[in-house]
Amino acid sequence: MASSIPDRAEVVVVGGGIIGCSIAYHLARRGLTDVVVLEQGTLTCGTTWHAAGLVSQLKSSHSLTKLATYSARLFEELEDETGQATGYRAPGSISVADNEGRWEEILRNATMAEGVGVETRVIDLDEASERWPLMRTDDLVGALYIPHDGVTSPVDTTMALAKGAKARGARIIEGVSVTDLTTHNGAITGVVTEQGTIEADVVVLATGIWTRHLAAKIGVNVPLQACEHFYIVTEPLDGMEIGTPTLRDPDNYTYFKEETGKIMAGFFEPRGKLWRMDEIPRDFSFGTLPEDWEHVGPIFEKAIHRVPALGEVGLQLFFNGPEAFTPDGVYYMGETPEVDGCYVAAGFNSVGIQTAGGVGWALADWIADKHPPMDLNSVDIRRAQPFQSDEAYLRDRISESLGLLYAMHWPFRQYESARGIRLSPLHDRIEAAGAVFGETAGWERPNWFADEGQTKEYVYSYGKQNWHENMVRECMGVREAVGLFDQTSFAKARVQGPDALAVLNHISVAQIDAPVGKAVYTQWCNRKGGIESDLTITRLGHDEFFVVTAAAAENRDFTWLRRACRGKDLTVTNLTDDMVMLGLMGPNSRRLLAELTEEEDLSNEGFPFGWSRRIVMAGVDVLALRMSYVGELGWELYMSNEDAAPVFDAIIDTGGTHGLVHAGYHAMNSLRLEAGMRHWGHDITDEDTPIEAGLGFAIDWDKGDFLGRDALAAQKDQPRSKRLIQFRIEDPELLAIHDEPLYRDGVVVGRTSSAMWSATQDRCCAMGYVEHPDGAAVTKDWIDSAAWEANIGGRRVGLSTSIRSWYDPQNQRPHLAD
Ligand SMILES: Cc1cc2nc3c(=O)[nH]c(=O)nc-3n(C[C@H](O)[C@H](O)[C@H](O)COP(=O)(O)OP(=O)(O)OC[C@H]3O[C@@H](n4cnc5c(N)ncnc54)[C@H](O)[C@@H]3O)c2cc1C
Repeated sequence: MASSIPDRAEVVVVGGGIIGCSIAYHLARRGLTDVVVLEQGTLTCGTTWHAAGLVSQLKSSHSLTKLATYSARLFEELEDETGQATGYRAPGSISVADNEGRWEEILRNATMAEGVGVETRVIDLDEASERWPLMRTDDLVGALYIPHDGVTSPVDTTMALAKGAKARGARIIEGVSVTDLTTHNGAITGVVTEQGTIEADVVVLATGIWTRHLAAKIGVNVPLQACEHFYIVTEPLDGMEIGTPTLRDPDNYTYFKEETGKIMAGFFEPRGKLWRMDEIPRDFSFGTLPEDWEHVGPIFEKAIHRVPALGEVGLQLFFNGPEAFTPDGVYYMGETPEVDGCYVAAGFNSVGIQTAGGVGWALADWIADKHPPMDLNSVDIRRAQPFQSDEAYLRDRISESLGLLYAMHWPFRQYESARGIRLSPLHDRIEAAGAVFGETAGWERPNWFADEGQTKEYVYSYGKQNWHENMVRECMGVREAVGLFDQTSFAKARVQGPDALAVLNHISVAQIDAPVGKAVYTQWCNRKGGIESDLTITRLGHDEFFVVTAAAAENRDFTWLRRACRGKDLTVTNLTDDMVMLGLMGPNSRRLLAELTEEEDLSNEGFPFGWSRRIVMAGVDVLALRMSYVGELGWELYMSNEDAAPVFDAIIDTGGTHGLVHAGYHAMNSLRLEAGMRHWGHDITDEDTPIEAGLGFAIDWDKGDFLGRDALAAQKDQPRSKRLIQFRIEDPELLAIHDEPLYRDGVVVGRTSSAMWSATQDRCCAMGYVEHPDGAAVTKDWIDSAAWEANIGGRRVGLSTSIRSWYDPQNQRPHLAD
């Protein structure tokens, strides 16, 4: 019999799996003790009870590695605090590669993790055999040992978290199902249960595979889907000593864990098997799913290849249980964009145990401070797109995303499934011109243009890929003549009404009260001065503005804007799907545009940088903005979808005589990086301020108060001890990606934030924050007086440094830029 429920709680956490219990534990530790956890069955009865319990520390990014390493530390200490054993131990782990590409991936991950303090060691194959005697090693290229990787008991660890939460005042109530959620004016107000209603200021959905359907009741979009997930457990066998490290063999889709002298082998098959698209019943408690040897058989064969003894030993258990997977293979956390005060932590893609500690800590801070404790953009629920909850989409994509866990994570890897969701009206024309597409926020975007007869496919590697020369030619075309970019995917909105200026000025660091026609580059910052968005705002009229931001930031930025508009007199209209944007960039753009429009004066004086004007092209109305993300003379041309084809055709017809080239997003990324343009999500995030990022010029200190001003003003007069610097990798073949450690005279002082090959430098360029170890200012002298290196997959390579961008149009071509 369930205990009775209260009428009210500050926070209701729905779901008593490891995630819900960790959130309650960390909220209580933060002093938020009026917390109720509601579990429809008993604690752990969803997915948690049957997890294998691996606690690994190598993750895809710096922040996610930080969360995972925190979990390991917490699980180690929790028993001392709570008296409840967690079963945590650290036998270490070994990751093996049977090909060079995989080995490079493992080494690059290890290098990134080193920056977070994770100890890793490359071991020779003899040592690998000694540590894992039943492993076949003759076909291996390399092995990485991670001495402090752990394993834990998922049930005991959850119980310890629950005990710790209760000891600090949280209530945990089992046997109560949340049947609905309540909202008022776009904010959460509580939950409805079978036993009545609980009012709450904050509700957290930690409901695992149930989350998509529960969230949909209040219009919250959490695109995830249950998949079947398999492991087997053998009889005890010789050579499987207690304390044997966990073995990961991603090329054969299998991990092997020692379990009381037996092998537990778990599989991440290339194509996952979905389970139940419809709502999962509440009484699916400690549920298991049937064996499926037809599905698992081929993968099991591969596991036997690595550990031949598996083929001879008896199996004690074939286990199949559901887990929640997401379209990009990364979990969701944070406040939902649709409903204030409604938080989510779900979709753990089979890493929910090892992530639980970190997620509990970060989400508790997020709720308590109304802000995440670090850059968590890659897991933020605001990245979820409405179309991703479509069942046909989920059916197609989730099967691929499960497989991606152990697939090669090549740089620039593109999804193969669920494509073609959002198409530019010019898609067919761009495709006919040779475009090879990539996907961002559902948009098909031309990444590069294939030559006539060239296969329109990616051939992946960690070096220069098959499109490298195409991109270099596109870049040089833009630098030396003019390039045409289809930038339709950029998010666009009209902000209109009596309060439009006041609202935009409040959230922008720049002065938005500019003359009509002026386009302002600005950041939106949070209270801590961290950059939430990096965008342009053009004044179209007295109280009408045009906001343009990155495609991937559409949900996030427009949620930020919508929240700022609360109670104000204005409307925000999302125009992203209604307008095409063409970028015409390069020294010949002016001459080309002049031929295409009646507009007589496109000179620097007549049409200066940072201004907009309505012009007529091919007989249609176009909003032309003199702006450039690639550091060239250029115009962004905005027009309605219906008008795009004639404008595009006119540009192509006339462009030939001006050296016009089609250019894709790989070229754009390269051009912007060498020109020093920061990319939100990599070079600038909500934990970096405009001052640290070298964007202080955008702040208007004279305009009065704005969001983040106090924090920025306090930082302004302090030594700039953290600073974004430009790097050039002085090895003609090596390409960095991001998160590579940076060394000053042999000491790690930062990491790269983004990197890309630069055509003008004929090297890979990168940006990255460096921090002065003594808290003193990062000055030109401090930078110039030392030797700099990056660690790229275990290779220490020399770097050139610069505070200014590598490519500066003002220096290179002063007559072309203002
Ligand atoms: C075979 C297998 C092996 C795995 N191995 C590992 C591993 O080695 N390492 C690792 O890190 N991860 C592993 N995982 C993944 C891990 O188990 C999950 O990511 C994790 O358990 C998710 O925890 P959770 O709290 O989000 O979900 P759950 O444990 O499912 O908890 C959600 C809870 O919410 C409750 N609930 C749902 N709806 C309601 C409602 N309306 N009202 C009240 N309560 C509700 C459910 O009853 C459930 O108990 C594995 C998963 C599987 C399937």
